Amino acid sequence: MRKRVYIVYTGGTIGMQPTADGYAPAPGYLASQLAAIPELRDAAMPAYDIHEYDPLLDSANMMPADWLKIAQDIAAHYDDYDGFIVLHGTDTMAYTASALPFMLRGLGKPVILTGSQLPLCEVRNDARENLITVMMIAANYPIPEVCLYFGDKLLRGCRAVKVNAVGFDAFDSPNYPPLGTVGIHIDVHWENILPPPTPGALVVQPLAAAHLGTLRLFPGMHPDIIANVLRPPLQGLVLEAYGVGNGPVTNGAFMAALEDAVARGVVIVDCTQCLKGAVDLEGYATGSALAKIGVISGFDMTVEAALAKLFYLFSLEAAGGNPEATANSDFIKQQMQTNLRGELTR
Ligand code: ASP
Repeated sequence: MRKRVYIVYTGGTIGMQPTADGYAPAPGYLASQLAAIPELRDAAMPAYDIHEYDPLLDSANMMPADWLKIAQDIAAHYDDYDGFIVLHGTDTMAYTASALPFMLRGLGKPVILTGSQLPLCEVRNDARENLITVMMIAANYPIPEVCLYFGDKLLRGCRAVKVNAVGFDAFDSPNYPPLGTVGIHIDVHWENILPPPTPGALVVQPLAAAHLGTLRLFPGMHPDIIANVLRPPLQGLVLEAYGVGNGPVTNGAFMAALEDAVARGVVIVDCTQCLKGAVDLEGYATGSALAKIGVISGFDMTVEAALAKLFYLFSLEAAGGNPEATANSDFIKQQMQTNLRGELTR
């Protein structure tokens, strides 16, 4: 039987056209471009259906509600297709790719996000290769994960970061090896892929409207900045600290602001500003002082994954009655430091 893939087109460069204001998405344009690609009618290719969203978005305008729309769309068509492709702008693709693994509990089929740096309508583009390759992978390789494919690498979604604003190798997963590499052959690295879930239905976890933030430290940051960021109603903060998670701990006002927030139940997760490597709050006195006042380690999670995971965990708590949740931040802190979807190494 011919394999079938479901393609969601959310917007993004891949299906945009040039306008007087720069590239912009246009309804119906991507489907007409796909119809004009003869390779997609080859017997080696799966059958596909495409669902174009309205409105089409530049991903810079996407919100958690858009992640939910994608998750629910996949769940609604889950039994009818072998794999799912999410065509998405590159700007916030790593955020969506980080959120979907938490939202799609029990996922047993491939969900692959991709897009391009140049649209299909340009003679020279990366869209065509990305699209054809993800269609083949989504149809033929039963990878039970949310992945991101770009520039010949298949990455775990919740490990991916955008590392290049203009190159075709726009994404990387610095702290986890690729799930697949593509050259003459498509090589799926099964040893890096999560085991399939226990059989059961796919469950979508909606995200609650949690008050979350990220803050990147820099030398000379006034303590008022961190105190203002941490003010109620903030519930969780990803603190982008130096190196293995260090901060300016001799600054009394900085530490007092953090300590006060922790006492109010704000979950503060320490992630590194470095592209590669993990937080180790025992490595230096400038890190252990943060741990002592209740800042928790984000280990080697990306900022995108830490933020998505906070959204997810605060949603479980808001949902109440969910067996995974309890109504206190200790549960969230413990889960933040536990590997749930392959997002951190411990
Ligand atoms: N601004 C675009 C977007 O993220 C960039 C892209 O698709 O590459 O939607």
